[in-house]
Formats: sequence, C-alpha cells, structure tokens
Amino acid sequence: MNIFDMTMSALADFLRENGENPAKAPMIFDAVYKQKIRDFSHMGFCGRVTEKLSAIDFVELKTVRRLENESAGKLLLELSDGNFCETVLMRQSFGACVCVSTQVGCNMGCKFCRSGQIKKRRNLSTGEIVGQVLAISREFNCKVYGVSVMGIGEPFDNFDAVRDFCEIITEDKGLAVGRRHVTVSTCGIVPEIYRYADSFRPTGLAISLHAPNDELRNRLMPINKKYPINEVLTAAEYYTNKTHKRVTLEYIMLSGINDDKTHAKELAEIINGRDFYVNLIPYNSTDCGFEKSSPEKISDFCSVLKENGVVATKRKEFGAELNAACGQLLSEYE
Ligand code: SF4
Repeated sequence: MNIFDMTMSALADFLRENGENPAKAPMIFDAVYKQKIRDFSHMGFCGRVTEKLSAIDFVELKTVRRLENESAGKLLLELSDGNFCETVLMRQSFGACVCVSTQVGCNMGCKFCRSGQIKKRRNLSTGEIVGQVLAISREFNCKVYGVSVMGIGEPFDNFDAVRDFCEIITEDKGLAVGRRHVTVSTCGIVPEIYRYADSFRPTGLAISLHAPNDELRNRLMPINKKYPINEVLTAAEYYTNKTHKRVTLEYIMLSGINDDKTHAKELAEIINGRDFYVNLIPYNSTDCGFEKSSPEKISDFCSVLKENGVVATKRKEFGAELNAACGQLLSEYE
C-alpha cells in the first residue's frame, strides 16, 4: 500500500478498519504533504498507531533526467517496474503549473501526437500521478499552483486513478491546489465526461476537439468514430450545467488541415452559442507529418471565432525546445 495512492477517505477507512480514530487522517495528510514527513514515527503518534500505519509505504518516483529553461522544466521519472513517465513544469505568471501523464503510452492514436504513437503499456496508479507533482515540487523547489492532466495518456481511459488523483491534490490538508486551477483534458470519451461531471469533486475540463466536423475529426482522431462531435459537445454542455464550470475546447492549429477561416466559421456554428471557451494551440513540431499554422492564420481564425460570438484565445507556448510541449513527451527518449 502506497500512501500517495490514498485519498483522505481511503486513509480514514484504513484507520477505522484497524480500530483507530479516522479523524487522524487529516493529520497524516498534513504531515505527508505539507510538512513533507516520510516516516510515521515522526508524526507524533503513539507506538500502537505508528505500528499499524507501518503497513503503508512511501513510494516516490526517481528522477532519471531533469531539463530546465526560463519558462519550463521537464523530468523523466522511473516507475517501480522499470517503465518511465515524463512530467512538465510550466512557469505561469501566477505560479508553477505541472502537466502530468496518466498512462505509459496511449492507445487513442491521434495522428498529430508523437506521444500517442507509443502504444499504451499500462495505466499509471494514482500514486504515480501524485508522484509527478511531488517530483516537480522537489526538483524545482516550487509550490505547485496549477495542474493540467494533459501529458501522455487519455485520463478517462484511466478514470478511477485520475479521479482519486484530483481528489488528493485538491485536498485542503494535502497539496491544496485550487480546484479551478486543475484541468483534466480528454479526447472525448463521452460516458466518462458524464461520470466525471457527477463525481464527488469535479475540476476543470478540457476537450481536445481539433476539428469542426466529423469527416476531418475522424481523420485526425480515431476516437471520433466512436464518439462523434455532437455527442461530445452535448456531454460538454451537461458538464457545464452540472458543475458550473465552463468547458475548454482545445484546438491544435495544423497548417492547411484545420486552420482555414471556413473551419473557424464551422466551429462557431457547432458551438451554437453554448458557453464554451476555445483555446487555439500552436502545433509543436514532431515527426508526424504536420506543420504549424502561421501566426497570421491563427490570429485570423481567432478573429472569426470572436466575430461569431465565441470566446477564444491563443495558448502561450511552453517547452517546445525541451521537447516538453503538447504531443512531444517521451518522443526524444523513446
Ligand atoms: S493527444 Fe492525448 S489522447 Fe491523443 S494520442 Fe496523444 S496522448 Fe493520447
């Protein structure tokens, strides 16, 4: 049992089942995440409690490689079975943000994504996702203010681990990352969007859309054949209504593929006045055969969206030179 796999309620259950007061769970969270204590005998409990807690381990991730520049950092981390994962630090104006991976590889097969060409080997555990946030904080000596679940893997293909991860990092007695500073990004697994909306503590949600019609999205993202755009946007609308959080639609700008003004018009039409926010992402070069749209194309696309009543911005670029940007993770290492 790894402490970093355990939500507050799982820890309270463990204490209860072992005949101890579950009210100790917040004290343990505080000791582990705020005071960074890694030994139960240093938490001020009596010998009996310490003995029972000794069934729980502290398993953290080992840093294999660390890269850094002014605005970003990247860690290659070793998992206990010899697999690796990568995690990224983005220095935003309001503080440090981490982009975590959720799987070793990914089976979604998005055509523009180098990370996704490494087939899924396994899901990461909750503790391994939490471990990435702890590793960034430790290696770059920073407090983490925001978390994006947008690294390698499809988060909703590893639903339970990701839901528990979000619960742990937003826990007041734990890392206390504000819920509005946590975003889970999915390629559009429709049933899990509903499930997450109905979960105990939903965070922000982003949907990788990347095309304004099914014909184009089928070509770029095979998942669209299972969950077409209208079903994805209906689920996103449900998410907004249920959680009162505006859903972000991510749109990677691919030169000559999806970046024409007609595509922008079409995108505004399918949004059809719904309260979504479009984030235009300049493509990061990989060897997948796509090119980045020019700044003029992106700005024209953004203007058409705005003229048609859609809230849209261009995302700030982070970490491309470290191969730490979207779709580039592990590409160099593998
Ligand atoms: S974009 Fe995300 S979901 Fe698609 S292949 Fe890459 S890692 Fe997987």
